[in-house]
Amino acid sequence: MLHCIRTEFFIAGSAPFITPGLDTQPNLFRHCPLCGADEPESFLQKQTLRLVRCSRCSMVYANPVPAELGSGQYYDSIGSQYYLSAAKLQSDYSPVRFERELKIFRKYVSGGAVLDVGCSSGAFLFQLGARFQAQYHVLGIDTSGPPIEYAISRGIPCVRGNFLEQHFDQAPFDAITFWAVLEHLADPKAFLTKAAHLLRPDGYCFVLVPNLKSLASRFLGSRYRYIYPQHLNYFTRKTLTRLLSEDFSLLESKTTHFNPLVIWQDWRRKEAEVSNRQRADLLKRTTALKLNPILLPVRKLYSLTEKVLGVSDLADNLLFVLQKRKL
Ligand SMILES: [Zn+2]
Repeated sequence: MLHCIRTEFFIAGSAPFITPGLDTQPNLFRHCPLCGADEPESFLQKQTLRLVRCSRCSMVYANPVPAELGSGQYYDSIGSQYYLSAAKLQSDYSPVRFERELKIFRKYVSGGAVLDVGCSSGAFLFQLGARFQAQYHVLGIDTSGPPIEYAISRGIPCVRGNFLEQHFDQAPFDAITFWAVLEHLADPKAFLTKAAHLLRPDGYCFVLVPNLKSLASRFLGSRYRYIYPQHLNYFTRKTLTRLLSEDFSLLESKTTHFNPLVIWQDWRRKEAEVSNRQRADLLKRTTALKLNPILLPVRKLYSLTEKVLGVSDLADNLLFVLQKRKL
């Protein structure tokens, strides 16, 4: 199946990416973020983005990558423009935005100290506090300054900095979350290792990343908007499982989320790049549809479709619940 997709990937699109701020520093060449080997095979070329697959472990990753993305500096530069746009904030702070994440989080963690890594504008922690007041002590961390300032203005305790370099007086934590974060990192394994050090024994770690083998990815190929320069790692269930160190046990894993609007828009769109503004606008539109009472029958059909996709491992994201092993 993937072999067929690869062929399609190679012939799609020709317009250059217009992602701002990615041409000021030399590229960073990477070894496999999963096994460390330097044996890449070509997998996909989408304008300036080059994805390779490790011949040893089959991990798909971007190589080389702009240095600003490898260091996280890029996210600081787009902080206000994207994360604080009205559409993005309105979507992120909507009660429906993190409903799936909150549901699975509550299943395992009923209270305690929570650290959200890559917290952006703090919306997940805000929802946690708003719904379950006084049950959690929360802290967010992000490299991007403007969204952190916004989160603090909404009452969310946050620190700005690199997670790997940060010292946390609040540790150990009962839970650490990585919602749509590991795919952006040059060294995702190091982040999980540090999370394990910061968790109490039996503490929980939640990981959500895009699913390379989702229906949308298989159907759209390189047209899929989530194959873009900000994503450095492209996980499958197999490679994400292999990323887990011996520090963690895997308690639960599933695929979740499905956005037919993305499939429809990306299929029709000829140019390959979707601007950050368009991404935020779609989030806002999707949120409005979720909240519209007239569309209840449609939402029921949608929920059923998402469940079927989830069972088939074809939904948009992989969601793993990890528990720190006892020593
Ligand atoms: Zn590898």
